Amino acid sequence: MSQSNGCVSLHESKPSIDHRFAAFRLRVGASKIHRWGIFAEEFIPKGRKVVEYTGEKISRRETKRRAEERAQIYLFTLDSYWTIDGAVDGSGAEIINHSCEPNVASRIVRDHILYYSLRDIQPGEELLVDYRFGYDEEKLPCHCGAKTCRGLMNLLQKE
Ligand SMILES: [Zn+2]
Repeated sequence: MSQSNGCVSLHESKPSIDHRFAAFRLRVGASKIHRWGIFAEEFIPKGRKVVEYTGEKISRRETKRRAEERAQIYLFTLDSYWTIDGAVDGSGAEIINHSCEPNVASRIVRDHILYYSLRDIQPGEELLVDYRFGYDEEKLPCHCGAKTCRGLMNLLQKE
């Protein structure tokens, strides 16, 4: 990761979880997919709120600026105008890795981004979410290792 632009990543050291936003016991661990990941420390039944994705709420213009200047970005689109930047006051949910076979998915409930379990999750399993980057956005290769891997973190067609 380049730091030549003077932009300091907040996640150079091991990230942490703000347990106030987690509904289950979670931990940060080394991920087989990418750097750090979030792992379940207890059984999580299907259909439950697992963790809230928190961060600084920023405008469309500020989102564009941050996306251009940072090597490592944690931006979650809330709606057509607002974005949540998990790099600032993030709960830890911002480091949940992408997989084409996710076990959690986001729902936006009254301006809060909540991650729900898509199936039962066993203790020790890494939490994984499908980033569903747009078909029209910059193509990012995926190495999630799932049988159904699309090869990209992007959707393969327009929704
Ligand atoms: Zn994949």
